[in-house]
Amino acid sequence: MIANIRIVMVQTSHPGNIGAAARAMKNMGLSRLVLVRPNEFPSEAALARATGADDLLHAASLVDSLAEAVADCRIVLGASARRRSVSWPLLDPRQAGGIAIDAAQQAPVALVFGRESSGLSNDELDLCTHLVHIPTNPDFSSLNVAMAVQILSYELMLATDHSEPPPSISEGMADTAEMEGFFAHLGQALDDIGFIDARRSKKLMRRLRRLFHRAAPASDEVNILRGILSAAQGRKSMRRDGQE
Ligand code: SAH
Repeated sequence: MIANIRIVMVQTSHPGNIGAAARAMKNMGLSRLVLVRPNEFPSEAALARATGADDLLHAASLVDSLAEAVADCRIVLGASARRRSVSWPLLDPRQAGGIAIDAAQQAPVALVFGRESSGLSNDELDLCTHLVHIPTNPDFSSLNVAMAVQILSYELMLATDHSEPPPSISEGMADTAEMEGFFAHLGQALDDIGFIDARRSKKLMRRLRRLFHRAAPASDEVNILRGILSAAQGRKSMRRDGQE
């Protein structure tokens, strides 16, 4: 199961943090590291901090965007140092470990870590099905990114030890790429039928994302929803044609 879990680091500035994260991962039995546009990689500083986890660095995948890094994942957990204004489902590290290990029985799972300077952008958080916050001193809540990787990797290892319960994600659940295709279609359809101007209604789209992520639809259910959207779009354009 743990082989189905990847750690994704987004635009890490300090290569030493990538090395330290690789070491933390290997200590806890994790092996898949995905780097989204790191500032400097490969790097001597990363190798020096990995001390013995160089194999993870050599095997790390480099990608251009978070969407690419998580396209085949069904559960995407975003590690956040801050509480956000929009309410993403927020987990503590223990709950996150349980959900990740459970879900990984059926499909790839990603744990996503943000930039040292600014964390994850809202557009990146939109790709996450859940957020996880490590409890800290509220006046000083931001951990070094490799230490955040360490804590959450430890929770994954603990959860592996006592995971036997049936998987909590449903059979055939749509992956990130399918959900993103659906959200793009939904935004376009809401625009076409005159409900909203999708570009100006980021907040509404964000709430709808939360709703559909909570529902955890299967691939065929997403196809039904998209069929409904297409029909609504077709009818609207027919009506428009009729009026013209
Ligand atoms: N200044 C940034 C902090 C970035 S810390 C901000 O305000 O968002 C770099 C990354 O480490 C974060 O994006 C997050 O993925 C992880 N991290 C740091 N502290 C964390 C915490 N308390 N809980 C969960 N993740 C944390």
